[in-house]
Amino acid sequence: MQKLVIASNNPGKLREIGHLLEPLGIKVLPQSAFNVTEADEPHCTFVENALAKARHASRCTGLPALADDSGICADALHGEPGIHSARYAGEPRSDERNNQKLVEVLTNQSNRNAHYYCVIVLVRHADDPQPIIADGAWHGEIILQPRGSDGFGYDPYFYLPQLGKTSAELPLKQKNQISHRSKALTRLVEMIMQEAAAE
Ligand code: IMP
Repeated sequence: MQKLVIASNNPGKLREIGHLLEPLGIKVLPQSAFNVTEADEPHCTFVENALAKARHASRCTGLPALADDSGICADALHGEPGIHSARYAGEPRSDERNNQKLVEVLTNQSNRNAHYYCVIVLVRHADDPQPIIADGAWHGEIILQPRGSDGFGYDPYFYLPQLGKTSAELPLKQKNQISHRSKALTRLVEMIMQEAAAE
């Protein structure tokens, strides 16, 4: 595998993934370079949606493809917002309204534990029966007042007790070393290396 399509147009994600796969001699290309249309995400689990995105990108390009799906899951809400994280407060998609809604529904809850979750899927071809799947979780709690201005999405409300900071107060470099996405990516790279070593 020398070339891989990333089923995302997010420049931050492309950079992070490209950086980790470079030592393996794998060049990553954004799906926008092939005019890939956005895939449907009709499923109720992260892994099924990531798989649908990866298969779609691979089918459209004829190349191996990698896709991720992520979100935040609150214990007291049985894992919600979960796969609905990006549009928790409905359309149009708004981080501010999503955060407002999450804070509202958790205000009277004593348990505000939550975790970010990310799953990354790699298919070697569109109908690959044996996709490589890696995941990562990042545990913290939701606070009711925002702190910090870095990051995106739920970061100003995602508090990490061990660090005494929200993820919006962490420098990007530090966040990228400990986040759900970096854990999943690191595991995926290990799995690709194991597979290459076994060939
Ligand atoms: P996606 O997987 O990039 O579509 O992300 C889904 C949604 O989950 C985002 O729109 C955010 O609301 C939330 N999310 C996922 N990862 C993070 C993160 O690292 N920080 C803040 N919000 C996140």
